Amino acid sequence: MKLPVNVYICEVAPRDGFQAETNWIPTDKKVDIIRALATTGVSQIEVTSFVHPKAIPQLKDAEEVVARVRDLTGVTFRALVPNVKGAQRAIAVGIKKLKLMLSATDSHSLSNANCKVEDAMRGFDPIVNVANQNGVHVSGSISVAFGCPFEGVVPVDQIVRIVSSYREMGIGEISLADTTGMANSKQVYEYLDVLRSEFPDVLFSMHLHNTRGMALANAFAALQKGVTHFDASIAGLGGCPYAPGATGNVATEDLVHSFEEMGVQTGVHLDTLLAVARQVKDVLGHDGGSFLLRAGTCSQLYSLPTHQEKLNDEGVVRDGLSDFTWRA
Ligand code: ZN
Repeated sequence: MKLPVNVYICEVAPRDGFQAETNWIPTDKKVDIIRALATTGVSQIEVTSFVHPKAIPQLKDAEEVVARVRDLTGVTFRALVPNVKGAQRAIAVGIKKLKLMLSATDSHSLSNANCKVEDAMRGFDPIVNVANQNGVHVSGSISVAFGCPFEGVVPVDQIVRIVSSYREMGIGEISLADTTGMANSKQVYEYLDVLRSEFPDVLFSMHLHNTRGMALANAFAALQKGVTHFDASIAGLGGCPYAPGATGNVATEDLVHSFEEMGVQTGVHLDTLLAVARQVKDVLGHDGGSFLLRAGTCSQLYSLPTHQEKLNDEGVVRDGLSDFTWRA
């Protein structure tokens, strides 16, 4: 089987994960977590979103958070910006990479951004201009790229049109987001087949939520199509405030573990990552669905039982443990 040798992980919990938390996370804790994440080997961190503080109060400390981590080197900080004002705020505090977010369907766009897809796209022009004037990189993303909770399956032609629009704006890096976990692996494989042949110069990355347990399978499908950039969220945090029932992104530790088990190098140190995942769970009081936090890694082996335990017909263990009754 032919798989990429190296992949790159963008950690999105500080934006996608934190924004889904209803209880206020103190700025100190956010900074601690981001600084810890930067030691794991992830290549990029989506550090916050410069949205209006009233829209997502949890991220109202965006400037302070960025100011307190921007001394870190070896990791790129990306910030989500919904409009020019957000872009200006991000650039003013030293962000060098912006992410735009566009829905694949009008219904999701109306519920998320209060306008249709085409109007949202037009609103990006001034953001790109501001970024260009300041030498700041802009990447794009497409929410509900495979399935929309209001409209169902999103035809690939619709995604092709949106990618074309991004391309016309000079944006060559696009994240395909399965925001509400509706994609299946065959669909991911087929859509990427179309997109990668239509746009060979575009860098596609995958942003997969695990709402229905399909994120790892979908990541594997993307891997088979040669995708090398993946978003993931520590401890599986995340959600979408505008998509009913949406849950967390694929947990970074689960994605890294599954890739490394297949010999695909992520550059991430798994033990360090797991320590951060436990730290995040302690701070928030919960995780967002992490297999590794529950089961540990495959390399974590157990010592053999000292007796070869066998059950007789009554469910009683024999062979030196005659008094021991099996508890089913
Ligand atoms: Zn997301």
